[in-house]
Amino acid sequence: MECPHCNKKVGLFSKALNKMGKVKLCPHCSGEIKLFVDFKVAAILLVPFVVLSLFVLKPLMIQLGLSGSIATGLATGIVIALSMRLKKGS
Ligand SMILES: [Zn+2]
Repeated sequence: MECPHCNKKVGLFSKALNKMGKVKLCPHCSGEIKLFVDFKVAAILLVPFVVLSLFVLKPLMIQLGLSGSIATGLATGIVIALSMRLKKGS
């Protein structure tokens, strides 16, 4: 993800984004940033990922002796992670 202030990359799992509180600070320019889920992107990604989870992940999980429902949860998590965007904090 890119910072809306300085356009430098900010990692989703970076310390800056995993701090408590709604408003985070960019590690590069200290600008206020907010994390949000872009539902348009999520809607576009959801269908291919659900198909992937049903036909690829689920059989794989069952073969590994795990519950097939983990696949759905995993696919949903990936979709949300990929749909996360940064915007300027108010
Ligand atoms: Zn920045």
